[in-house]
Amino acid sequence: MNSITYRDNQLYVDNVALATIAHAVGTPAYVYSRRALEWNWQEFNQGFSPRTAAIRYSVKSNSNLAILALMAKLGSGFDIVSGGELERVIRAHGKANQTVFSGVAKSKKEIEFALKSGIFSLNVESPAELARIHITAKSLGVVAPVSVRVNPDVDAITHPHISTGLREAKFGVDFEQALELFRDAHHSEQLNIIGIAVHIGSQMTSLEPIIDALEHVIDFSEQLGEVGIEIHHLDLGGGLGVRYRDEQPPTIREYCSAIGEVLDRRNAAMSLSIEPGRAITANAGVLVTRVEYIKQTATKNFALVDGAMNDLIRPVLYDAWMDIVEVRQDHNIEAALYDVVGPVCETGDYLGKNRMLAIDPGDRLAVLGAGAYGAVMASNYNTRPRPVEILVDDEEFDVIRSRESIDEMLCLESIPDQLSPD
Ligand SMILES: *Cc1c(COP(=O)(O)O)cnc(C)c1O
Repeated sequence: MNSITYRDNQLYVDNVALATIAHAVGTPAYVYSRRALEWNWQEFNQGFSPRTAAIRYSVKSNSNLAILALMAKLGSGFDIVSGGELERVIRAHGKANQTVFSGVAKSKKEIEFALKSGIFSLNVESPAELARIHITAKSLGVVAPVSVRVNPDVDAITHPHISTGLREAKFGVDFEQALELFRDAHHSEQLNIIGIAVHIGSQMTSLEPIIDALEHVIDFSEQLGEVGIEIHHLDLGGGLGVRYRDEQPPTIREYCSAIGEVLDRRNAAMSLSIEPGRAITANAGVLVTRVEYIKQTATKNFALVDGAMNDLIRPVLYDAWMDIVEVRQDHNIEAALYDVVGPVCETGDYLGKNRMLAIDPGDRLAVLGAGAYGAVMASNYNTRPRPVEILVDDEEFDVIRSRESIDEMLCLESIPDQLSPD
């Protein structure tokens, strides 16, 4: 579904012109489409029919409270990676008992918070962590729900920074160690085995690695069955890729049917969770920025814009291509090739290179596919306020995060007495 379209040479998110939003709230601004977010979530929710799967929206791709509240309203569960994210889920009226807690280094405090909140599952990634959960559960007098996150040694065929399922990654445990962990958990009165979890990477544009991992995990669950440990639940993680440029990722429906087909063929009678993040949020959002200056050098044209790497770090962090388009198409301006760069003092501060654009100073640009791993990774580097965030609902829009003021950026800092002027 395309919620970002041109009409009369104006770029719209659903039924609101981006120029209208930019005029009202300034730039840089993240703008998300409620309709696109809902659509993508529903595709996952209906995609497994006649099976059902619990959709646990992966909070880290976009953790704005309004987005989480929208997911909760749809009936979504959540996948979190910190106590802070659990707090967000709770404040957005999400349910802890539909939430799984992933992550390799959960602190004692985070484990306590999760157990007290009634978390659905703590996804365990090491023997030391299982021991810590055991002790924490005992001290609280509760039984801890746990899944073991296995690392199936499958190559997700994606950028190395977001590939998590290879043997050398820090994530999960291999099958041999997982067997030990399941044995320990099985014999502990403090631990209740929920199931097996796996998440092999992000931005996967082929089904093969996911299906491979699934087959390995089913093999392993059969092996567990042989030693008397029945696995009733499978958490397949997230990682479905999206189209940023010319990638051809499977559709959400194709992804769901491929998984269902393997479960059928293998006669696997396990209930299912999935943890999509990017596939729900990425193409539901854009970053709007304004051209401050145009600068020509001997070799290049630069569009100097008010958005920067602190607002959107994907281009330099992952070497990611993100489409950049004009918010208003003006056919009287001649198109030229630009590097679109921000004001931050780093050569890595660019949003895109070699882009054909027809622009004048003052015009606005939209970086597409910015709904995932955009706002959540923004920082105050160069003492720049993080962008405002907007949610479009058909013909209306709301501010769901204000732009920070200078005071808000500086309020946690203090000058020790001895450094005060005499
Ligand atoms: C990041 C993450 C996800 C979501 O990944 P996407 O690529 O955004 O779908 C799901 N599960 C776990 C454990 C993660 O770390």
